[in-house]
Amino acid sequence: MKDQDKPTVLLEYHLKKLKLPTILREYAAMAKVCSQDRSDYMTYLLRLTERELLDREKRAAERRIKQAAFPVIKTMDTFDFKAQPSINQQLVRELMRGEYIAKKENVLLIGNSGTGKTHLASAMAFAACAQGSKVKFYSATALVTELMECREERRLQRLQKQLQRLHLLVIDELGYVPFSKIGAQMLFEVVGRAYEQQSLMITTNLPFQQWTEVFGSERLTGALLDRLTHRCHIIEANGESYRLRQAKRRSQAKPKTN
Ligand code: ADP
Ligand code: MG
Repeated sequence: MKDQDKPTVLLEYHLKKLKLPTILREYAAMAKVCSQDRSDYMTYLLRLTERELLDREKRAAERRIKQAAFPVIKTMDTFDFKAQPSINQQLVRELMRGEYIAKKENVLLIGNSGTGKTHLASAMAFAACAQGSKVKFYSATALVTELMECREERRLQRLQKQLQRLHLLVIDELGYVPFSKIGAQMLFEVVGRAYEQQSLMITTNLPFQQWTEVFGSERLTGALLDRLTHRCHIIEANGESYRLRQAKRRSQAKPKTN
């Protein structure tokens, strides 16, 4: 080894040990830039640490998005509000800022199938990840199945703790499948624990009057709705299914063959 290589070898070893991968990657190129600019030592260090910090935040956001387990990534820029005028756009835009999460408020998206509820929930939850919140996206059925499995295997407490660590828990498509009695009770417990501790975001095709059909007990449903809606933003989507409309458009656009 040549003598002049020694410090860089040691430096790179230190940067690795200190877990500063961006500085490790960029220190040499940045040194050239800074000497051309005649920047001082402090500016050099500032630029490097700034990049490390930015990269670190980016990596953390990517990790949160991965952990949120979105079925598909949807964002607001692909949502066409004109196609669904019943949706309160102003409220959606406000919720995109994520202040409801700090206030531990809930979001409920209610409406027919295909009106964009899952799309909006995904986009809002995605934004929350980017803003630093811990999020997890579940379909109602998957969540109940996981709760039941964990209960059978005596891992329920662990799952409950994991869920409680989240800032935002998304429960998609509540109401398509009725729950067993135990399933309903376990979901009720999730909502109960979340109350004023974390935000829930729920999408459903069920008007409130019909929730009893899915949860079984009227008393249970009453208590659940009470907690859920106490501090809650409600987005209603009453229009036609987006998919259906597009399918209709496509078939209208096709020339008749007979
Ligand atoms: P829901 O959950 O209400 O049943 P989805 O959010 O799953 O509906 O929407 C169905 C499909 O149509 C998705 O691919 C979604 O991205 C798309 N979609 C629905 N509404 C809109 C809209 N207003 N603008 C753009 N895409 C939409
Ligand atoms: Mg949906």
